[in-house]
Amino acid sequence: MSDASALTEREDAPDVGELTPPDRTLMGPGPSDVHPRVLQAMSTPLVGHLDPSFVEIMDEVQELLRYTFRTDNKWTIPVSGTGSASMEAAIGNLVEPGDTMLVPTNGYFGGRMKSMAERAGGEVVEVEAPWGEPLDPVDVERAFDEHQPDVFGFVHAETSTGVLQPNVPELTGIAHDHDALVIADSVTSLGGVELRVDEWGIDAAYSGPQKCLSCPPGASPLTLSDRAMDKVLDRDEQPRSWYLDLSLLEGYWGDDRSYHHTAPITNVYALREALRLVAEEGIEARWARHREVAGELKAGLQELGLEMNAPDEYWLPSLNAVRVPDGIDDGAVIDHLLAEYDLEIASGLGDLEGDIWRIGCMGHSARRKNVEYVLAALEDALAEQGF
Ligand SMILES: *Cc1c(COP(=O)(O)O)cnc(C)c1O
Repeated sequence: MSDASALTEREDAPDVGELTPPDRTLMGPGPSDVHPRVLQAMSTPLVGHLDPSFVEIMDEVQELLRYTFRTDNKWTIPVSGTGSASMEAAIGNLVEPGDTMLVPTNGYFGGRMKSMAERAGGEVVEVEAPWGEPLDPVDVERAFDEHQPDVFGFVHAETSTGVLQPNVPELTGIAHDHDALVIADSVTSLGGVELRVDEWGIDAAYSGPQKCLSCPPGASPLTLSDRAMDKVLDRDEQPRSWYLDLSLLEGYWGDDRSYHHTAPITNVYALREALRLVAEEGIEARWARHREVAGELKAGLQELGLEMNAPDEYWLPSLNAVRVPDGIDDGAVIDHLLAEYDLEIASGLGDLEGDIWRIGCMGHSARRKNVEYVLAALEDALAEQGF
């Protein structure tokens, strides 16, 4: 190769500088602020995904996940990918072609459950509630009597509306009386608000790391009861996804520890450290902190003259949906917070687009310091528009 062509190649190479992302305060619907210890864990050396030291780390992560989910389920793993990957692992393995899945209509993520169940070859039926309200057990019972679904999915913490689903044991009781399995979306509840997988009779719960666990996205918690796993191992037809086939993943995360795909090792380190922080704080103390700190946020928002989208009974501490006052441009406020304060909050989704802001209070972001900051910044942004 001549000197001239080497020079041309260098001239061709894109000239990008060093990576310096802005230092944001993350108070949106996820990701949340990452604890420095988790970032540090991510810069520790890589080992192989079958290295004896990594196998030990896998055991620890599984044990910490059981603690956080409040479960003794053997089948408790981090799925490679974001929350949607653990969601698709749950739905794609538990819904077989010909099965009927009952899903809710009261938010954005019930709609995602529906799409995934349809792709898995399932029939989908719906239990209705408006966006901004939880499911009523009476409606769930009626939907069961009418459709006899095999699988029932509900969203424990609906990030699109700021609603926490109450009465979970009542919902799972209805499903079990009809011999159905229950899948809970706990993406915005795990590690942030009370969730008791075993006591509440949840058969499968999936979550994500970047919400109340304050960990970067990439390895997403999933737990299945023996009864749920029996159904997975007893399927007539293989699940449509090879990557998310739990009967194959069992070979890696179960007793064999044999290769299926290369685990996202660094993300597993991160999740381990994030879960260690949960264990150090204590799960119940962590739920209490979210309630307390987010309670101060809610009170502060109301003092600014703003109104919460969800009534107090269904208020979700980890995601505060606030109504945009008449005459205020929601996008301009979001832009002002980002430009002037390096602060991220989010707009509404779907049916609530333009009607609400979504302010997260999750994990390491659920701190008094963040709450004071967001309230002061919001007051300024609203004043800019004459509120
Ligand atoms: C964020 C979220 C998801 C999806 O998680 P991703 O990590 O974005 O794939 C699913 N359900 C709920 C309730 C969520 O808040």
